[in-house]
Amino acid sequence: MASPYVDDFLPEALQFRPSVPLVDIGANLTHDSFDRDLDAVVQRAQAAQVSTMIVTGTDIAHAEQAVELAKRYPGLYATAGTHPHDASQWSDEVARRMASLHALPEVVAVGECGLDFNRNFSTPQEQEKAFEAQLALAAESGLPLFLHERDAGPRMRDILQAWRDDISQAVVHCFTADRDTLFGYLDLDLHIGLTGWICDERRGHHLRPLVGEIPLNRLMVETDCPYLLPRNLPAKLKGRRHEPALLPWIVRELAECLGISDAELGMATAATAQQFFRIDTER
Ligand SMILES: [Zn+2]
Repeated sequence: MASPYVDDFLPEALQFRPSVPLVDIGANLTHDSFDRDLDAVVQRAQAAQVSTMIVTGTDIAHAEQAVELAKRYPGLYATAGTHPHDASQWSDEVARRMASLHALPEVVAVGECGLDFNRNFSTPQEQEKAFEAQLALAAESGLPLFLHERDAGPRMRDILQAWRDDISQAVVHCFTADRDTLFGYLDLDLHIGLTGWICDERRGHHLRPLVGEIPLNRLMVETDCPYLLPRNLPAKLKGRRHEPALLPWIVRELAECLGISDAELGMATAATAQQFFRIDTER
């Protein structure tokens, strides 16, 4: 049978084709590393059964680009928010433009937004202000939230607790924190997004015993590409850019941690994502 892959960019050992369609809830496809070959990237994802991708919008310009991609490619959807790194740019004008993006049919979540006290590219005060303003936008629009948190678990939890009754659903994407933080989020009835961080023997293996603590109907999967290329891929890629076609490898790793089949995990996480983002798969 002819390979469904459009090119030989992925070595054969990296051409996983699971039996069920997957949803990548965090793909930074507006990153300039995808400028040259985005058609091929999307086709490889579809060949790998990654049929739905939520394109992360991290500021106005990238959210607008994400919307354009969602218009161009079936199966792509967009989020619109201001990343905590860029929180210093938040203004009433940004809030107004975000609100109009949130009204578009291609936009399925508010975010990426949240708190990142790891690098503090914006001050914690600026981050909290932009975050709360976006919680207000989520409350107004009824859209779910796509959240980023790094080294800010306790503060994030306090803020979310205060807003919990006003917002609908929220996913903490690329969860990498500890057990207490995880249980705090689950207590608030949040969803958790896991990436290839779990594949990193230097810094991700603490997550492995935690995976089983996340109820399957609260778990979603993502590449966070082009970042976070899994460190244990069975073959070398040209370059270090991660892409949605490699999501099935992450699903395989997670399924192994959970002691269930790839198909069961793929099906559960895809169903959760469709319900969470209210995605009509027929669009
Ligand atoms: Zn993030």
